[in-house]
Order: sequence, then C-alpha cells, then structure tokens
Amino acid sequence: MQTGIPGEQQVDPRTTDEWAWSDAHALPGVVDVAIIGGGIVGCSAAYFLAREGLRVALFEKGRIAGEQSGRNWGWVRQQGRSPVELPLMMRSLQLWLELREELGDIGFRQGGSLYLAQDEAHLAQLEGWLSVAREHGLDTQLLDSQKLGSVLRTDQRRWSGALHTASDARAEPSRAAPAIARAAHRRGAQIFGQCAVRGIDRGAGRIQGLITERGRVAASTVVCAGGAWTSSFCRSLGIDFPQLTVLGTVARTAPTREILEGEAWCPAIAIRRRADDGYTIAHGGSFLHSLTPGTLRYAPRFWPAFSQDHHSIRVRLGAAFFDALRIPSSWAMDQVSPFERQRMLHPEPEQQVLRQMRVALERWFPEIAPAAFLETWGGMIETSPDVLPVISHVDGHPGLLVASGFSGHGFGIGPGAGKLIADMVRGVADRSEVHAFRLQRFFDGSPIRPGPSI
Ligand SMILES: Cc1cc2nc3c(=O)[nH]c(=O)nc-3n(C[C@H](O)[C@H](O)[C@H](O)COP(=O)(O)OP(=O)(O)OC[C@H]3O[C@@H](n4cnc5c(N)ncnc54)[C@H](O)[C@@H]3O)c2cc1C
Repeated sequence: MQTGIPGEQQVDPRTTDEWAWSDAHALPGVVDVAIIGGGIVGCSAAYFLAREGLRVALFEKGRIAGEQSGRNWGWVRQQGRSPVELPLMMRSLQLWLELREELGDIGFRQGGSLYLAQDEAHLAQLEGWLSVAREHGLDTQLLDSQKLGSVLRTDQRRWSGALHTASDARAEPSRAAPAIARAAHRRGAQIFGQCAVRGIDRGAGRIQGLITERGRVAASTVVCAGGAWTSSFCRSLGIDFPQLTVLGTVARTAPTREILEGEAWCPAIAIRRRADDGYTIAHGGSFLHSLTPGTLRYAPRFWPAFSQDHHSIRVRLGAAFFDALRIPSSWAMDQVSPFERQRMLHPEPEQQVLRQMRVALERWFPEIAPAAFLETWGGMIETSPDVLPVISHVDGHPGLLVASGFSGHGFGIGPGAGKLIADMVRGVADRSEVHAFRLQRFFDGSPIRPGPSI
C-alpha cells in the first residue's frame, strides 16, 4: 500500500516527517484536550487550542493528512456555499490569510474561483447565488463571456459566462494540514502519528480521557475529528452519527501553461492551478457510492441530498458491503481496533472516470489537454445528510465534541472549524453557530435541507 500523500514528492521530505514528533516522545499522562484525527480539522483545532495555552495532544492512526485532507482538490472556496456555513467559511479564509507567514509555503494563493456556464440556462441558475453573496458582502460577480476573458485565458466562445469570486483561494493539500500540525507543535501541542484511538475513557458521568493503542491519556475534553471514520467511532460509543462516503477520482498534470490563477468548475470537469505549475483535475460531477450496511441504516436521512445530487452519484453493490459487515461495531480496549487494521483509506481511482476527464479536458480546456497525468488517486469523501458540517457537543456525553461531516468542502473551512472548536472548548463560541452545526439537528425533527453540494 502506498503510504504517501498525493503530490507529496513536490515537498521537501524533511518537512513532512511528522513521525519524528511522536516516536521520540512518551504519551502524556494528562492533557486538557485530546484530539482524534490528524486531518485539517483536527490539526487546526490543535493549533488554536495550543495558541490559547491549553495542553493538547492529537492522535492520528496513520499519517497527518493521509486521508481526505491530503487528497482533495485544494479549493479554498466561499462561492456556492450554503448560507448556513458561508460566514464560517469567510472567517476561515481570513484565518488562512492570517496564518500565511506562520505556515510557510503551502501554495496558498487568492487566484479566484469560477463556475463556468455551458449555456444560458446554467448561467441563470448560477446567477441565483448572487443574492447570497450580496447578503454576506462577498465580491462575487456574474461575468459574461467577454469579461470572462480577463480571468480565463481560453477561447471564451465555449462559455455563456461564469460566476466568479476573486477572493477565493487555493492551497496544496499535501502541505497545508502538515504545516498546521507543525505550527501547533511549535506552540506546544503534542502530535502522535501511527497512534490509533480505540475508545473513550468514561467515569463519574463524563469523559475522563481516551485509550490509544499505546495507552491511556487523561483529558477533560475529547474532540473526535475522525473524517470518514467518525460514524464507526461514534457507533462504538453508542452515539448515532449519520454519515456516508463517496469516492472521488483525481489527477495531477505535468507543468503546463497558465490559463487561470485559481480554479474553475463546470459539470464535466474541474481544474485547479497548482504551485508546481500543473493542474489538479477532477470530473465535475461523478462520484461513486459503494453500498454498505450504513447506506441502509441512513437511507431515509440522506434521501433529500441524494435526490438533489442523483445525477452525479453512481451507486454500486460490491465487496465494500461485505467488507463493512465484517467490521465489528465494538471491541475490547486491549485488542487491535478497526482503526489500526486500516491505517489509511487509500481507494483506487476509477479508470473510467479518468478517461472521461481526458475527454472533457480536450473538449473544454484543449490548451492544457496535452499535459500528461503524472499521478492519479482516489479519495473517500464523507458527507452528512444536509451536506453541512457537524461541529457539536454530544448530548449525554459531557466532555465530548465531534467535528465531521464536512461533505466534500472541509479543506477550505478547516481552519475556521478548528477555531470554532477551540472557542467551543473555551465556552466562548457564537451560540447561533453552535446551534447551526449541532448533531442533534438530525434527530430533533428539524427539516433536512441539503445545502449546495459543490
Ligand atoms: C477527492 C476530494 C476532493 C475534495 N475537494 C475539496 C476542495 O477542493 N475543497 C474543500 O474545501 N474540500 C474538499 N474536499 C473535502 C475535504 O478534503 C474534507 O472535507 C476535509 O479534508 C475533512 O477534513 P477532516 O480533518 O475532517 O478529515 P480527514 O482529512 O479525513 O482526517 C481525519 C483523520 O482522522 C484519522 N482517524 C480516524 N479515526 C481515527 C482513530 N480512531 N484514531 C486516530 N485517528 C483516526 C484518519 O486517519 C484521518 O487522517 C475534498 C475531498 C476529497 C476526498
């Protein structure tokens, strides 16, 4: 199994050696906050908590950014977001800007984002989002095909126009979360790679800490930022966390001419300029959901999101269903847990989608189509029923927070989510935001209204 992060060879290997942080150190006996998961959300939470002077330890079963946070498209995007999460995303962008110096070169750049319209009807549909942008004071504009020429250096006649947000940004996923983890480490957080958390230590009616494969750590607060594993982890604690996954297929090209500084999407293809002068490429709307017992369990809750997005999600019954059946729903704390059995979700990219991407590139961006795909990969995207994050205390489990369900757009919002988690731990978070992202919304009769999914 490959143990690297896609595109990682672009980085000085000396700066990605996060194993060194943990191997040299014994587990702490006690911390204020213990974090499960070394994706961008867990790392950002560790950073902001450590910055506030709290004692923090983060535990990652595999590698920092080994799963979604190192495999995504690298869009730091406000455009097209649900009004529920847009304020958090806008604050997150400010944090990306604020942290630039401290994080070093993570390929961060405000190159703008484009949603390209292939016809007038699509353009009219995109125009509908302008009212959200205006309400939040965002710099989004509708560009006609002539104005588009100032942002996208291709033949403009291919497009009817575009939605454009100049302040949107990009960053390199292989570098961002590791850089945030290093910054957290410099501020005092302890980071442990190859150290799975098996369960929670409970007593006297609240969280007392957690149990890792290397031993027990006492903590009054535990944050579960376990990405695609959050639902199984919660289930082992008797907590219902509705979550399903889809597979996305991604490629990076050889360096080639610059036709835009940021990123562009249309239903057939998505491209993002990379720091190495190539592009990260993906199909604009082709994801695969492999049926699991979880699909059956959560089908009614996910129906609204699936109905909205059915054109871009294919469903397959295959080995994944039977593999999932073999995963136990609970285990003894002195035995190897499912999290150690699979250190990193590393799915194969879909060859048929890669072929469709090549065709779409020829059709829509022929200027860069000759560039070879140097690397291809798959990434498991986890989603919540309303395609919005859960950043929440858990009823009946004082001391436990869950932060997951980022639904294909948690990279950009990661620093904002980390800051919100830190504010919640310190009891200073905005109440309306805590309410909006509560887990309980899926169980208290609130209507499930999926936000835009891209
Ligand atoms: C193909 C693809 C494209 C995407 N494109 C974008 C994009 O352009 N822009 C955007 O904003 N978002 C994008 N996303 C979504 C984004 O990557 C995720 O929402 C975000 O990275 C989630 O971060 P996380 O920290 O919650 O989860 P993850 O990055 O998945 O991290 C969770 C970590 O927890 C660890 N873990 C789980 N259980 C345990 C345990 N018991 N013990 C120890 N460790 C554990 C896992 O090993 C994992 O490393 C994309 C995702 C994919 C896959």
